[in-house]
Amino acid sequence: MNRVYNFSAGPSMLPLPVLEKAQAELISYGDSGMSVMEMSHRSADYMAIIAKAEADLRALMQIPDNYKVLFLQGGASTQFASVPLNLIGTTKKADYVVSGQFSEKAYKEAIRMGFDAKCIASSKADTFSYIPAFTKDDIRPDAAYVHVCYNNTIFGTKFPEVPDTGDIPLVADMSSCILSEPVDVSKFGVIYAGAQKNMAPAGLTVVIVRDDLLDRALPGIPTMLEWKVMAENDSMYNTPPCYAIYMAGLVYEYLLEQGGLEAIAKINYNKANMLYDYLDSTDYYITHAQPAYRSIMNVTFKTGDEALDKKFASEAAKAGFKNLKGHRSVGGMRASIYNAMPTQGIIDLIAFMKKFEAENPKN
Ligand SMILES: *Cc1c(COP(=O)(O)O)cnc(C)c1O
Repeated sequence: MNRVYNFSAGPSMLPLPVLEKAQAELISYGDSGMSVMEMSHRSADYMAIIAKAEADLRALMQIPDNYKVLFLQGGASTQFASVPLNLIGTTKKADYVVSGQFSEKAYKEAIRMGFDAKCIASSKADTFSYIPAFTKDDIRPDAAYVHVCYNNTIFGTKFPEVPDTGDIPLVADMSSCILSEPVDVSKFGVIYAGAQKNMAPAGLTVVIVRDDLLDRALPGIPTMLEWKVMAENDSMYNTPPCYAIYMAGLVYEYLLEQGGLEAIAKINYNKANMLYDYLDSTDYYITHAQPAYRSIMNVTFKTGDEALDKKFASEAAKAGFKNLKGHRSVGGMRASIYNAMPTQGIIDLIAFMKKFEAENPKN
């Protein structure tokens, strides 16, 4: 078996011990005689799987009791619509921070549905190379919520700290940074994340919502999009994404075994800092994100020469470093180094980058 270093932004690497456990349980889970993929979601075996997944996620993120955890389908992109439908209430006003492509999509989705969405801060003019600043005074007093994208997957930036939105609920898309380091869940009204970056295979979306926010849904919204319905039915109003939840559960269990998010964060900062320190030590590579806003999950850089960037991505792939080509809106390279990327992957990547630099001088 030949596993490569996969720097894909998503779907992305999963921890090898998790894949091995899933492999061992693939054909018959426990003594059930069937795969988790073949199980009724209402069977005792499966109910235990989903209950443990939720309990382990709560333990990992120290989610307070007054928050519901929902295991949904539709990806983070469906939540771009679900957030306003569940939260915007009678004022129909919500404020958005536009710090990248996904936060812009969320903002535009609210406008598309006819709501009064306002962009209160944007870094678009500077190709989203930083997180735009805003204060409580920028928020409309009757805004139902403030929406942010906590880690900008494409541009490689993240919020350096939780923004203060006062009494207005803060809603955060954490698709590409959930479980990368501890966050104080109590500072958020809603956290949501597509699972395929740092948690599980695609197909699962996790929503963590403070329970006093469950009574604000607009009347007549699609049942499947109403968080309260999903909460009252323990994410089983219909068939949940059973197998992806099982895989997420294995990931949660694995992260707890590694010492939880404090221990994981230490490893993640070490990995990211090694890479940024190297990038800062040479003029050959140029980083996209401004240093104060650098993501520890998605590292964006380029050589400044498009032909060299292209050569870099293709030679890297041949050397076993896959999916380093940057998103088309930024160009250059992006190394997505989620929890499952081993430290050795960073050490080996840096060695490759040094070699590439030596062998491909710029003229
Ligand atoms: C990948 C990503 C999305 C889109 O997620 P889907 O699950 O594909 O809808 C949204 N937001 C962020 C921050 C992402 O990284």
